[in-house]
Amino acid sequence: MPPSAIIVLGSVNTDLVIRSPRIPAPGETVLGGEYFQAPGGKGANQAVAAARAARDPVTFIAAVGDDEFGRAALDNFSRENLVSQYITTVPHQPSGVALIFVDEQGENAISVASGANLHLTPQHVDALPENLFAAAGVFLCCLESPIETVVRGLQRARAAGLITILNPAPALPEIATPEILALVDVLTPNAGEAALLTGRDGVGEAAQQLRDLGCGCVITTLGPDGCQITGETNVRIPSRKVTAVDTTAAGDAFNGALAVAVSEGLALEQAAHWATAAAAIAVTRSGAQPSLADRDEIEAALS
Ligand code: ADP
Repeated sequence: MPPSAIIVLGSVNTDLVIRSPRIPAPGETVLGGEYFQAPGGKGANQAVAAARAARDPVTFIAAVGDDEFGRAALDNFSRENLVSQYITTVPHQPSGVALIFVDEQGENAISVASGANLHLTPQHVDALPENLFAAAGVFLCCLESPIETVVRGLQRARAAGLITILNPAPALPEIATPEILALVDVLTPNAGEAALLTGRDGVGEAAQQLRDLGCGCVITTLGPDGCQITGETNVRIPSRKVTAVDTTAAGDAFNGALAVAVSEGLALEQAAHWATAAAAIAVTRSGAQPSLADRDEIEAALS
């Protein structure tokens, strides 16, 4: 297998979804729902998004439990262009699970039991071989794994000269420190996350504050309004006009494709265009991982 240009570190969950007439209130039972199960977790979504968009296999660092959901997740990864040999199976821990209620308006309520994801430790990152980092160009991570593990990953990536991308989702304000953000080349919050991290509602103000704390550049994603790059220069990239069917994992699609484009040497503005095309395809299809575009589709959309 050729070495990976991209390393993704993140979470693996199984989404257990019930679509029902309304989201149950505390103490209430709502009948008449439809159930389905789907592979999820931001880390896994981003790794799959990158793997489908990349030419070479993408390495995914994660943890699953020694249970049916964990085995199903590994089986799912084996069908993607992913190197999964560094995914650790944690004994005596359940795999991550997200219980998701969706109502008829598309509103949702989500409860996550992180399980094995919380047992991905800095020691796991320390144990990764040096040549894995030496061969790669980009490190992508999010915040569904323990912060100290994410930080260790960023440190190793930085030491090996990789470009680091942190998708600060969910928004944990404790990462908005100079120590952590100095390890980040590209921070990719959505508008809500940027506001939560900074206490500022203005997209430009929030991004500037995050840059002042030390990250190289901020790409704030703005749903149907595209994204805003705040860096040496400020650029707004509109979204592509599509009919959105399901915006689940739009941000994950964007981040995975961004990592691929950056790893191939595209300048940030061009990389964001590429990521915008990949995300636009994902929102036209249902589900998280099933909706993620492959390279041919992204290139066709851009041609
Ligand atoms: P998240 O899913 O993390 O909340 P956003 O909602 O900001 O992130 O979406 C990420 C990216 O997905 C946007 O920057 C945009 O490129 C694309 N996107 C999201 N919603 C739409 C939409 N309705 N139409 C076209 N593109 C979209």
